[in-house]
Amino acid sequence: MDEQPVSPVSPVVPRFVARCPHCDSDKRQTKAGRTKYHSLRFHCTACDKDYTPQPKQQGYDAPTRKQAVALVLEGLSLRAVARILSVNPQSVANWLAAHQVALQDKGETALPPAGAVAAQTVELDEVQVFVGARKGGKNAGFT
Ligand SMILES: [Zn+2]
Repeated sequence: MDEQPVSPVSPVVPRFVARCPHCDSDKRQTKAGRTKYHSLRFHCTACDKDYTPQPKQQGYDAPTRKQAVALVLEGLSLRAVARILSVNPQSVANWLAAHQVALQDKGETALPPAGAVAAQTVELDEVQVFVGARKGGKNAGFT
């Protein structure tokens, strides 16, 4: 019949061969421990240098950054976005700043310049003003 014979040999998986980025040699490459992020380090005996052949990607990926900027532009606070995406608030601030720089490079402005926003009427209800010391304040009992 036209049945394919099952090969007893499993498909060949390309084996990782360490190649020195300094001298481009793949001979006499020895393992040299790991980085603090647990990527393998190799040592080239030919040129006596260490290198990481497959370094891990540092930082967050582009979709996460885009989503963070989009959420901030929707009106969420930096800290709220940071909590939602489980990232550092400073990271969100950095991505927003980078986004603004990118927009300005394209000739667009992300935010209106300071002072351009017209004064708006702000309505407050229940404003509490404390005159003198509050009773039972944070120093109560420590007189
Ligand atoms: Zn080398």
